Amino acid sequence: MTLKRPDGRKFDETRKIEAKINVIKRADGSAFFSFGKSKAIAAVYGPKQVIPKHKENPQKALLRCNYDMTPFSVTERKRPGPSRRSKEISHEITKALEPALLLEQFPNTVIDVFIQIIEADASTRCAAVNAAALALAAAGIPMKELVSSVSIGKLDKDLVVDVNKDEEDFTVSKGGKEIKAATDVATAFLSRSEKVSLLHMDGDLTSEELKKALELAKKSCEKISKVQEKTLKEI
Ligand code: ADP
Repeated sequence: MTLKRPDGRKFDETRKIEAKINVIKRADGSAFFSFGKSKAIAAVYGPKQVIPKHKENPQKALLRCNYDMTPFSVTERKRPGPSRRSKEISHEITKALEPALLLEQFPNTVIDVFIQIIEADASTRCAAVNAAALALAAAGIPMKELVSSVSIGKLDKDLVVDVNKDEEDFTVSKGGKEIKAATDVATAFLSRSEKVSLLHMDGDLTSEELKKALELAKKSCEKISKVQEKTLKEI
C-alpha cells in the first residue's frame, strides 16, 4: 500500500462496526448495522398475506426489500421518497439476500424488509444488506446461511476495504485538473456456500484487480459474518 487512507485505516480494515438486533419492537425482526457513519436500520414484517394478490407465488414467499435514505442522512437534505437509485439498490439487496432464504417454506406470502439509512457516508448498500440479513434472522425466517456485505475501493492504484465518502470522491491531479480516481465495488458473500450474491462496480478494474478485490472482500465478509453471528446470539 503506497497511499495513506484519509482516516488512517489499514488497507484491509473496515470502519468501526456496530450491530444490534430487535431495535424496533413492533417489527417481526429488526436490526441496526453501521460502518462508521454509514448507519442502516432494517425492519422485517412477515411472512404475511400478499397485497396486491396477483403477486402471490404458489411456489415460494415473495421477498420485497425497500431501501431508502432519510432526508437528514446526508449534509445536503435529500429529497424524501423513492428515487431511481433507491429502487435499483432495493432490487440489488433483494437479489443479495434471496439465495440465503428458504422462501419455499412460505408459499403465497410476502416478507417485507424496510431499510432506512439514517446517516450516509458511502457503502450504505453494504450496511443495508448486513442489517437486513440480521433482521431476517431475528424475525426467525429460516436461512441456509448468513449474508455479509462490504465494499472494496481502488484509490489510484491501491485496493482498500470499506470505502467511505472521502475515498469514494478521491481525485488525482492530471494536467492541472482534479480527476476522479476511485473505483468502488460493492460485494456480498453467502457465509456457508461462499458464493457472491452482490457485485456492483462503479469505475474500472483490470480482471486481476477484480480477482484481488473479491479475495479481500471475502476475507472481510468472513469477519463481518462472525460479528453478525455474535450479535444474533445476544437475543
Ligand atoms: P452507496 O451508499 O452504497 O455507496 P452510492 O455510491 O450511490 O451508494 O452513494 C455513495 C454515497 O453518496 C452515499 O453513501 C451518500 O453518502 C452519498 N449520496 C448518495 N445519494 C445522495 C443524495 N441524494 N444526496 C446526498 N448524498 C448522497
